[in-house]
Amino acid sequence: MIDQDHPDGRSGSETSPPSSSLSDSGRRSHGALLPGLLVIAVLLGGVVALDPDNSFRTIRRLAGFDNDRLGVAPTVSQGVGTYAFMRTQRGSDVPVAFTPCRPIEVVVNPDGAPANYDELVDTGLARTGAATGLKFVRVGLTDDRGTPRGGLARRRPVLIAWATPEEFPELAGAVAGIGGSTAVGTPGRLRYVTGQVILDRDLFASFGPRDAEYAQAIVDHELGHVVGLDHVDDPGELMYEYTERTTYGPGDREGLAKLGSVDC
Ligand SMILES: [Zn+2]
Repeated sequence: MIDQDHPDGRSGSETSPPSSSLSDSGRRSHGALLPGLLVIAVLLGGVVALDPDNSFRTIRRLAGFDNDRLGVAPTVSQGVGTYAFMRTQRGSDVPVAFTPCRPIEVVVNPDGAPANYDELVDTGLARTGAATGLKFVRVGLTDDRGTPRGGLARRRPVLIAWATPEEFPELAGAVAGIGGSTAVGTPGRLRYVTGQVILDRDLFASFGPRDAEYAQAIVDHELGHVVGLDHVDDPGELMYEYTERTTYGPGDREGLAKLGSVDC
């Protein structure tokens, strides 16, 4: 399986730069991790991945029935911003994504969550859903604490939880959150089947009313990773590692629309 969790740092104006390297400040060895994980993914893909309805839908599509799509990605301006995908299908520029023909179930672990977590989650899912055409469905609460990279690759709800660096070392230092998804499938037909967003409990607990937009931006940014966006080196986009914006930018929106437009 391919587990892509991005530790994301807080805005540079508030904290010192992170010592790690993967994200809104802390972008951690993305490149170093992936090759090994890809091998695992391909191996697992043959065993785990072929859910029956995958081939069923292929047959339906060949027969001209591709109308099970649950939503339509919005039409957006092309080429006016910057975006990147976490992964693309082998030999193509088609992004690895969730299928647009199934709802993406989401569970929340409220333990340690800020008081307004419902609003943060609902707003993030609404924005990301609108930008992709993907349909998110909240299916309740959980006591699941999330898994380190390499959790079992199978279809299960996307988890949103708040945690400390003791639980998730990637949250150490200036990192505000981690987001990513797990893909299964055969080479060339990988599909995200689950994902997780782990947010820094203490950071969110420290936010006051004036930080509401920033808190929301962190959640939205992590959901961008979950559906398949990678970081870009462009402060005009929400997927910039240091997240200067508070809403999806033009390139984010172009990438999100493409992620919601893949075949079922
Ligand atoms: Zn990030």
